[in-house]
Amino acid sequence: MTDNQPYKAGSNPFENNAQKSNSKYFKTLKDGDFNNLRFLKELDEFVKLPVHSFVKVDSNGQLIADARAANKSAGEKYVGSFMCIHSEENLLNGITCPLCEAGLRYSWKFMAPAIDRSDGEVKLFESDKKTIYTQLAEQFKTDGTITKTDFKISRTGKTQDDTRYAVSVVTSNIGELSSEEKELANKVDISKAYPVMAREQILAEIVERAKGKTNSDSSSQATTPIVPTVPVTPVAPAGPVATPEKPSPF
Ligand SMILES: [Zn+2]
Repeated sequence: MTDNQPYKAGSNPFENNAQKSNSKYFKTLKDGDFNNLRFLKELDEFVKLPVHSFVKVDSNGQLIADARAANKSAGEKYVGSFMCIHSEENLLNGITCPLCEAGLRYSWKFMAPAIDRSDGEVKLFESDKKTIYTQLAEQFKTDGTITKTDFKISRTGKTQDDTRYAVSVVTSNIGELSSEEKELANKVDISKAYPVMAREQILAEIVERAKGKTNSDSSSQATTPIVPTVPVTPVAPAGPVATPEKPSPF
């Protein structure tokens, strides 16, 4: 794995996905890049979701399992990130996650709205546990807050193996969030960025995105608001449940 980072600091590389969900994402950090930001939620208010990030299909539209991902094939295409629907509750109802089944791993993502100091916009920050989140957790343990500080998130390294993220304090003790700033947090709707989808919806959306059609509203209509509490366990898809025995294109 050289070109494509499976993990990006609080970003989503899929412009169309971002537009569709009306959410803004932090830019993808490359080697040497940094981003200054201010969190609008405390660490214990972050939303935790299981996410299949940067899902890829090959030229035949087949999902590329993690084991195959290292061997880049011609015509492969990114189709976005999806919330994993693997859960005990779903399993009991005979619903399995099509991405897990295809051999893709999910990871827990911790998400919160934050102000991007480079442009003043409110965006969705996301991190997996072992990188930025852990460093923020240390800060939270020491100070009991992460919202009274401007942080700098920086990246060094180009590949999955050598990439490190560093969290440092730019300005501390900038005071409590104002009511306006707290209000800004509502501009980021995580449930639209990661809608709860039924199995068939996920598969249909992948087919659609692989074709290059990006502005379907089918998924956003199926969204269920996610209550921003931690931890959040994977939830059952909203609405009618897809029949598992129906043959899938994957
Ligand atoms: Zn899954």
